Amino acid sequence: MKCPRFFRSTDSCRHNLPFALTSTGKTGDGVHDHMTISHFNLFKTIRFKLMASLFTVLTISIGTAMFGIWTYERDQFIESVTLEALRGGRIIEKSLTTSMLGNDRQAIQQTITEISEIIEPPSRLTIISPNGTVAFSSDQSMIGSNFIRAQDPTCTICHLHEGTPPERSTILIDSATGPMLRNIIPISNQPSCHQCHSADTKTLGILLFDAYVESTFQMLRTVAFRILLTGFITFVALFLVMTWLVTKLIHRPIQDLITGFEEVGTGNFNYWVEIQGSDEFSEMADSFNVVSRAIGRYLDEIKVRSAETSTLYSMLLQLSKTIKLTELTGVVFDLLYEFFDYEEILLVRIEENRAHWFEATWRKKSEPRLHHTRFNLDVDRLPGTTMAVEELRRWASDGITLPIFTEDHDPRVLIPLIYNNEKTGIFSLRMPGGRPIPPQKKRLIGALASHVAISFANAKLYHMATTDGLTGLFTKRYFQETIAHMAAADPPFTKSFWLMMMDLDHFKEVNDTHGHPAGDQVLIQFADVIRANIRYGDIPCRYGGEEFIVVLPEVGENADFIESMADRLLKAVENNSFSCPDCPPIRLTVSIGLASFPEHASSVEGVIQEVDSALYDAKRGGRNQVRCAILQPTTKT
Ligand code: GH3
Ligand code: MG
Ligand code: MG
Repeated sequence: MKCPRFFRSTDSCRHNLPFALTSTGKTGDGVHDHMTISHFNLFKTIRFKLMASLFTVLTISIGTAMFGIWTYERDQFIESVTLEALRGGRIIEKSLTTSMLGNDRQAIQQTITEISEIIEPPSRLTIISPNGTVAFSSDQSMIGSNFIRAQDPTCTICHLHEGTPPERSTILIDSATGPMLRNIIPISNQPSCHQCHSADTKTLGILLFDAYVESTFQMLRTVAFRILLTGFITFVALFLVMTWLVTKLIHRPIQDLITGFEEVGTGNFNYWVEIQGSDEFSEMADSFNVVSRAIGRYLDEIKVRSAETSTLYSMLLQLSKTIKLTELTGVVFDLLYEFFDYEEILLVRIEENRAHWFEATWRKKSEPRLHHTRFNLDVDRLPGTTMAVEELRRWASDGITLPIFTEDHDPRVLIPLIYNNEKTGIFSLRMPGGRPIPPQKKRLIGALASHVAISFANAKLYHMATTDGLTGLFTKRYFQETIAHMAAADPPFTKSFWLMMMDLDHFKEVNDTHGHPAGDQVLIQFADVIRANIRYGDIPCRYGGEEFIVVLPEVGENADFIESMADRLLKAVENNSFSCPDCPPIRLTVSIGLASFPEHASSVEGVIQEVDSALYDAKRGGRNQVRCAILQPTTKT
């Protein structure tokens, strides 16, 4: 898999997940609990908290700065205007002195009018006599009007208490024409004034210098507006820049990480958190990608192992269901079919007590019936097409001890079964072409093979305990237990079956003529003839001496089929040439009795009695013949 361009960790590139988990968290086996990370409340997000904090700090700092600038500018303006007014007042006072000393009222009035016209800012000059009457004023309408110190609001601002000097000499008045800065300049009684005014009088009058400061205030308002505007623009600009920075550097990386965690929570371990820059968040994203990949890999591994374990467990359960060789073979064939979906399978086992002889059981996918045969190692070809004689020889000489997977044009699997350093058999499977065998199956087959080997070893022990040492057929006890078991189940699970009882005709003569060992050889070969002429799954037993009985589980065949099978066996014995060392070929015949459960008898004892009677009939009828028990409506013979 190619690493995304933004991925930096080399370790992270080592991911090669076999499959991706779905975002729903459904991974087939429900391993993933659905985990979601709840969406945060907006007010609890880091971005909101940061932005709120920055907003507050910005507002306070810009507000404080603006307020400081504004108050400073305002105070500076007012102070300069006040100083200007005071200075103006003094100049006016000096200018009026000459007119006053001349005691020329007209000249005084004219001087006041001329000064008020040229002075800046626009002003009104007024001289109030000690009794509060306006004596002169640039505003003609005011001449003659009275200022009552104790009542006039413009006076009471400063003259707070009767008899005490005013607290200020400059006041700001909101007049009808706008803000007005009033300078109150007392006209003191100078020695030069004593010609006209008594020296006892301290103050000759008051000069009111009213400067209209609307333009100054207008300027202050403009300054305030500009400060506000500048502050606002600065605030907006800073806010936008901060928002962008917080979003880019903090919010987005955190959001990406949250999305990553959510994806991982839903089982998507392939989700990549994009890495940008090289700050702590990018380090976190990088680590997240590495960790999520690692978790994904481990989870996949765990899932594979878990699937393997459960597969193995269910296989072991199947294996533990039977200890009988024939049934076990069927079970293992089914298991391997489920596992490999093979085209054909062959099981070869070494035959007991017969050197170079093997038992082969095989089955094709197209034909599910099991085939069974015995063969010698000298054969040219094995049954089926899955294994070559050379391979069997190699296995027989301990050349194959581990599973072999051939994946060329003819894919095959060889699975040797070894238990306690002893070969118990070998499976050979031909696989459908074009499909490679997954590695986990190859891994699992080793574990499965050892369990199958144990099962076959146990089945072999059980087989040895239940089979006759001379012929290899099942014992009488096994026969009795088997049919008792088959008949014991309650209908409809009762298994119906046929019994085929055989007794070699005049066998005593073989012993008498050729000796007991020769008789033994004949019995061994007779057992082979029986095996070769019954179906896989039928149960051949040595009932006693030279009497044999085969349990034929019924699978839908009628009496004709069973009788023809018995006839075939009869002919096979008749046509067989029994051999033994140091004696000529021996020809024999056999008598066969047939009876079925539950048609001919509804009990185990009854059906044995029926088949025994049928055999007796065959003997009495001249031997070398098949007799079937007779079905009677009430009683059965
Ligand atoms: P029939 O046709 O009536 O069955 O005649 P038969 O000679 O077969 O009958 P019989 O029951 O008289 O003889 C059975 C003989 O089988 C007697 C016994 O010596 C022999 N026999 C039983 N078990 C064995 C064995 O394990 N090995 C050998 N060699 N002979 C056995
Ligand atoms: Mg006999
Ligand atoms: Mg007999």
